Amino acid sequence: GPQSFDVVVVGAGAAGMMCAIEAGKRGRRVLVLDHAKAPGEKIRISGGGRCNFTNIHAGPKNFVSANPRFAISALSRYRPADFTALVDRYGIAWHEKTLGQLFCDGSSRQIIDMLLTEMKAAGVELRLQAPVDRLEREGEGFRLSAGGAEIVCSSLVIATGGKSIPKMGATGFGYQVAERFGLKVTETRPGLVPLTFEAGLLSRLAPLAGVAVDVRVSCGKTRFEGAMLFTHRGLSGPAILQISSYWREGQAITVDMAPGADVFEALRQARAERGRQSVAGVLAQHLPRRLAELICETHGATANLADAGDKRLRAVAEAVNAWTVKPVGSEGYRTAEVTLGGVDTGELDSRTMAARRIPGLYFIGEVVDVTGWLGGYNFQWAWASGWCAGQAV
Ligand code: FAD
Repeated sequence: GPQSFDVVVVGAGAAGMMCAIEAGKRGRRVLVLDHAKAPGEKIRISGGGRCNFTNIHAGPKNFVSANPRFAISALSRYRPADFTALVDRYGIAWHEKTLGQLFCDGSSRQIIDMLLTEMKAAGVELRLQAPVDRLEREGEGFRLSAGGAEIVCSSLVIATGGKSIPKMGATGFGYQVAERFGLKVTETRPGLVPLTFEAGLLSRLAPLAGVAVDVRVSCGKTRFEGAMLFTHRGLSGPAILQISSYWREGQAITVDMAPGADVFEALRQARAERGRQSVAGVLAQHLPRRLAELICETHGATANLADAGDKRLRAVAEAVNAWTVKPVGSEGYRTAEVTLGGVDTGELDSRTMAARRIPGLYFIGEVVDVTGWLGGYNFQWAWASGWCAGQAV
């Protein structure tokens, strides 16, 4: 007959492993399946290899979702301090980088090893290279075949993540399962992703590739501050990744490349005091020189300040304080850190992550329409939603 488990978790990522640990600790017989060769591959590559495993300020405001209130329950039941306590129990050294972002001092490998040790202690079985090839409802539970085995279970947890980085094994599996069971899935799109420009603009900005500048970027009512990087395809850097999750095709973004400085006033004052300086020379006090020079060339401000009228200075200043530009697209799932959208939160119980209409079925982590900002929020959602399901399965 088939192998029988109380709980099958599909996906040995951040959310799936946390859920399995908690369910195992409650005495459930738990099997975790993953089609990849190794568990937690996204943890391994996260945070530049140091895993930004949580953010001490994580709250519902740091997430994008059609229902911003959905995440409140899980985030308050399992907090950043709960995960940090676990990390401390394993003697894993960490530090706060900026803005509440916690990173390992050593390597993200330590987080994976910690989770694997916890899984073992909780009696969880892990099967790798075991893709699910059949899945159906059987009585009150589920029957599936995976990696050549026939398996039945009473609770099925989908923790297969989003579509980002297909090269690392990301699939749309979780969304397909949801649709198969008649659950709504909101539109999915790449998030935390570099934005791209059309060819003409790109060639004009080509000399800037590699230049970084601290900015305040806005799209509609949303604003972020941080570094922005000019690339060979368009724009990247933390501030751009953040705004990309709010940007829609057809929209413009506005970038203040000298936040806090009134560049028009600064230029007028410099003209009054030392009119023989170049405009670019003054801009270079606020911006990388290559950027300052390109802005001046673009706006015909290559002469001395004394020869530049208010109109020209205003145009230059606006290009610095309110550069408005329309990206044509994003780099897509190839480089996106996350997938926006997913299983409609209206289908799920916010306390347990259970599908309301399909008893025994759960969705956790990135596959759900809850997507965090850059800075450790996505892992905190994975831990919290995984923990909640782990208490309920
Ligand atoms: P995942 O961790 O993606 O796990 C899903 C698992 O399911 C994988 O093991 C996969 O192999 C498996 N799977 C997929 N399809 C199938 C299938 N059909 N059958 C069986 N198994 C399947 N977030 C942060 O908070 N901090 C960071 O520092 C950070 N850095 C990142 C860096 C990069 C480059 C990327 C891409 C993302 C980063 N993120 C970071 C985001 C974070 O990694 C994800 O949000 C998080 O891993 C989601 O957890 P999850 O468990 O839902 O999914």
